[in-house]
Amino acid sequence: MSIQQRLAKLNPRQREAVRYIDGPCLVLAGAGSGKTSVITTKIAYLVQECGMSARRIAAVTFTNKAAREMKERVGQMLKGKEGHGLTVSTFHTLGLTIIRSELKTLGYKPGFSLFDPDDAKALLRDLMNKDAQVDADQINRVQATISNWKNDLILPGQALSHAADEDELFAARVYEAYNRHLKAYNAVDFDDLILLPVVLLRDDPEALARWRKRIHYMLVDEYQDTNVSQYLLVKLLMDERQTFTVVGDDDQSIYAWRGARPENLVTLGEDFPRLQVIKLEQNYRSTGTILRAANTLIANNPHVYDKTLWSEMGPGEPIRVVVNRHEEAEAERVASEILTRRIKESAEWRDFAVLYRGNFQARLLELKLQHYQIPYKLSGGTSFFSRNEIKDAMAYLRLLINPADDNAFLRIVNVPRREIGPGTLEKLANYATERGGSLFAACGEMGLAEQLPTRAVERLGRFTHFIEAVRRRMDGGDAIAAIREMIREMDYEAWLYQNASAPTIAERRMANVWILIDQLEKSMGREPEESSASEETETDSVEAAISRLVLRDILEQQAEEDDSDRVQLLTMHASKGLEFPHVYLMGWEEELLPHRNAIEVGTVEEERRLAYVGITRARRTLTLTLARQRKAYGELMDCTPSRFLDELPADDLEWEGRADKEDPDKKQARGKDAIAGLRSLLG
Ligand code: ATP
Ligand code: MG
Repeated sequence: MSIQQRLAKLNPRQREAVRYIDGPCLVLAGAGSGKTSVITTKIAYLVQECGMSARRIAAVTFTNKAAREMKERVGQMLKGKEGHGLTVSTFHTLGLTIIRSELKTLGYKPGFSLFDPDDAKALLRDLMNKDAQVDADQINRVQATISNWKNDLILPGQALSHAADEDELFAARVYEAYNRHLKAYNAVDFDDLILLPVVLLRDDPEALARWRKRIHYMLVDEYQDTNVSQYLLVKLLMDERQTFTVVGDDDQSIYAWRGARPENLVTLGEDFPRLQVIKLEQNYRSTGTILRAANTLIANNPHVYDKTLWSEMGPGEPIRVVVNRHEEAEAERVASEILTRRIKESAEWRDFAVLYRGNFQARLLELKLQHYQIPYKLSGGTSFFSRNEIKDAMAYLRLLINPADDNAFLRIVNVPRREIGPGTLEKLANYATERGGSLFAACGEMGLAEQLPTRAVERLGRFTHFIEAVRRRMDGGDAIAAIREMIREMDYEAWLYQNASAPTIAERRMANVWILIDQLEKSMGREPEESSASEETETDSVEAAISRLVLRDILEQQAEEDDSDRVQLLTMHASKGLEFPHVYLMGWEEELLPHRNAIEVGTVEEERRLAYVGITRARRTLTLTLARQRKAYGELMDCTPSRFLDELPADDLEWEGRADKEDPDKKQARGKDAIAGLRSLLG
């Protein structure tokens, strides 16, 4: 299909948004109105119609899943070399690209580590435990505070001078030490992936010029969820040319808790007075009934921008609300329904999605799906990357590229067993701290030998020599082959067998490790849009590939993508931007949706937006489920149906299993509606 044909398929407002390239452009519109479609078509338009080189275009979004979808859609439009060098990624991946090619300017050494939240927590625990014993809650609070600061572009100095109370002052001191230690480890954390590029571009005119030269046009999806740092990244890059398109929906802002600033929609208008605002109103995704439910629900929130959404899809089926005895019955119900509905509708497994508020809700459902032998894919939760064997392998990879990564060192120094005891490690850590160096470096120092028995020193030495030898082999030739050899040489497999309760488990774990290495190999040089972004040399491509893997680990927290035919299980948060013919939304109960914390701190509006996001994922049928009783804190608790159910248009709902007697008038009216619905369906 030519670009002209593609344009012809869009509605006039969409077309206008695609064609407008002379200045900043904001597309503000509700769910399913084709915002993402505008972005993907616009990329093709810029390349094919405006003759812009794809390597000058960067499109960013929030989740890996969304980035992957976007890549796929663009891939279908751009042929051959046309798409070469195009960046379609998450904000964090773009940040990683910038950091990697600006390492020297930023004062980092090659092969830096990316700390995942667990690593960061371990470091914080160390730092905070120095003065007094702290509990996990305190550590979590400080970690969240630091993360918020980073998202708001507040550096340690400012945090210290603006601290409002003792708690903040304490957190600010930890923040300062934490950053200092990260630097010493040659490491960055997740939030740094945005913060460091922003600070660099803000303070270093030469670096800014380099990146402005490299990126000429930016497109941002799900703009309502940008935080301060992310917005500044866009602003810094685009200030001069003023060539960008951002699309968003303030009703779908669901990441305020992670620093997202829906006000950025307003800020954009202030910062870019020439901003062209385009609104879309036709929804192409959902039936009229589903759309009305979404509109009615979200009308309960205050609005900055008024939006109306309409659909030509016809009313479709009513929305079913299924009340179950308890959570197990709820899971059973969803699983068995998918089984029958698939046959009735001659649908595929992938046409079904089950969405829920929290990952824990998936556990029972998984068991039921397994029971019925329904193939499913779970996003989040027990992810591929959170498996122990993968964490081990990742730690080896991290240590190989950055020997200063103490967290990685500690994870695997004794995996497989090398008879290095906790006493030895404690002395090693003390010694390294005194010297201000890494654990790995300390192993080879003369001074250590005076503090440890010879045997312990020898064992540590054997370990570091082993790692160094692998490193040399990697540098000398085929890095992946060297890594595979390392895993065989240390006989990780035997160790897995010793530690698994059954041989099949060990077997599967070993297979996972090989999958990881295969992934690493594939990702080396395979993602031209990223490697071409920086002028990197061949030698660091294994490092680049490893840091990409670590990032994916953090971002994705889910098994490797696969396109096989499976039911999708995911949180409402993770479902943003996606669509499915049949959607089940579980747990419509007070304290679950809206979540108890949100009720307590008064952020029910954000929960309502979350429900709105969930509802608007559905194309043809929507089923809401709830349980009358649910286990919490080891006890069966009575649940109250979610207040959001009362906010949906009563006439569009078809209840099942409701305990209280139904109003007979309503029932009759609904019967009529159903018949009318059927008639309109039949034509
Ligand atoms: P969300 O807010 O959920 O991210 P969105 O606004 O990004 O939604 P899209 O995902 O781009 O919406 O589009 C929703 C659906 O509508 C997709 O299946 C898309 O292919 C289809 N669509 C978009 N525009 C048109 C059009 N002009 N004609 C027909 N179908 C369209
Ligand atoms: Mg979208």
